Amino acid sequence: MSYAFLTALGLSDIEEGAWNGSGPLATTSGETVDVYTPTDGSRIGTVRLATVADYESVLATAQERFKAWRSVPAPQRGEVIRLLGLALREHKAELGALISLEMGKIRSEGEGEVQEAIDICDFAVGLSRQLYGLTMHSERASHRMYEQWHPLGVIGIITAFNFPMAVWAWNAALAAVCGDTMIWKPSLKTPLCAIALQKIVDRVFGEAGHPGVMTTVVGTDAGVGTTMINDKRLPLISATGSCRMGKLVGTAVAARLGRSLLELGGNNAIIVDATADLDLVFRGTVFGAVGTAGQRCTSTRRLMVERPIARALAERMARAYETVRIGDPLESGVLMGPLIDDDAVRMFEAAVASAVEQGGEVLTGGVALRDRPGHYVRPTIVWSDKRLPISFEETFAPILYITPWDRLEDAIADQNDADQGLSSALFTNNLRHAEGFLSAAGSDCGIANINIGTSGAEIGGAFGGEKETGGGRESGSDAWRAYMRRQTCTINYGTQMPLAQGVEFL
Ligand code: NAD
Repeated sequence: MSYAFLTALGLSDIEEGAWNGSGPLATTSGETVDVYTPTDGSRIGTVRLATVADYESVLATAQERFKAWRSVPAPQRGEVIRLLGLALREHKAELGALISLEMGKIRSEGEGEVQEAIDICDFAVGLSRQLYGLTMHSERASHRMYEQWHPLGVIGIITAFNFPMAVWAWNAALAAVCGDTMIWKPSLKTPLCAIALQKIVDRVFGEAGHPGVMTTVVGTDAGVGTTMINDKRLPLISATGSCRMGKLVGTAVAARLGRSLLELGGNNAIIVDATADLDLVFRGTVFGAVGTAGQRCTSTRRLMVERPIARALAERMARAYETVRIGDPLESGVLMGPLIDDDAVRMFEAAVASAVEQGGEVLTGGVALRDRPGHYVRPTIVWSDKRLPISFEETFAPILYITPWDRLEDAIADQNDADQGLSSALFTNNLRHAEGFLSAAGSDCGIANINIGTSGAEIGGAFGGEKETGGGRESGSDAWRAYMRRQTCTINYGTQMPLAQGVEFL
């Protein structure tokens, strides 16, 4: 392997896929998966896949560790997460480069993703002293009532390829301070990111005397994935990925009356009115639509612009798109890397073909760059006077559909017509428009922004969306509650036994 940062992260050419917190287990399958960089299609490593038997072994450790970890005072659990945050800081550049190599986002976004993992560690440290319950006044004399929060158990974390570190960190940092232990099943498209993190976790938690709080199994969906979602011993499955996957996972977990935390697809729109600051619109939209090559759940897919300024804005954007440097995401100056694989390129081409068939006009892009190795496409703008059915599908690629509107309420209704409800934005300098967009009759999404694009959320707010996005909330605010069980306690410190609602008995 010719990348120094892989060596610095301790990654070998062949890695094991099962990690119980005290290093790798010798996997039992003999089956391997080769990992290729989308940058030029070359092999960057090989992982031995974990079997269901390996999963059982890792789970046994996580269950055993839970018995001790749940009783460690939460601020002490927070201290271990503080150390994890420090270790991530030490390796930020290498981890960011690994994300670029394995997933394809540019270096700055790769490092930004590691920063997100660091930020959530910091957040979790503070949170470890703030897992507050409420107290309430009892209706009975000499009684005290309160709520407290306890850890849930071993939780399952399933993550998508496009945020191969941050999404794990959102879950893992919070779950750990909440007192849970966990098993992570990363995407088979980005297993090296998971293994590099697990190596850091093993060192930090091992030195702190708590190995096995965070564990990883790299396995197939049909084997390890299906076993996890049907496993009653995992009280919570946190799953991030496509709506298709979420429906499968949600149904399986519900059938066993488990809890699921679903973070699924998005189809996010920006609405622009004629009062908007067009420089802000321009910057927010290009980042939202072209950033990560359109492979964010919050990527901007639809831009709806008030008619008098719509076409001119579309043409300005198209001119800017022509200057976007596409190439190796590790090279400085490159703004857009490759798509994850060839399937993604084919889906991009199919979506462009559908858009044209449905009456869309390709203003720029629309083609894959097949003159080089890797999975590159041109960022694409499709103009259409009317909404196109294809624009309501989430194509994980840099395609932006631009349409004009005449009445703001119609634009908001159009935005809300998507099956998903993740992120949304309005650019305006009109206070009534802004407040209307944020009102109950406005955006129906989990995230609603004014004069900020749809993508690039901070960790402090609860992150997630409605409808087919799955309804889950992760990261900041009170998202921690998903990882704990609530207990209502009533204490009678008197000498009588009054019953609630004044019921008389005995
Ligand atoms: P995907 O659905 O193909 O895979 C996601 C994960 O689910 C992977 O780990 C995969 O192995 C696993 N999986 C798939 N089928 C499974 C099964 N039957 N049992 C158990 N696990 C199974 O998604 P992807 O292509 O990796 O990621 C892109 C999608 O993720 C997009 O739709 C994007 O919008 C969404 N996403 C959402 C968020 C969010 O926070 N809302 C964040 C990132 C990505």
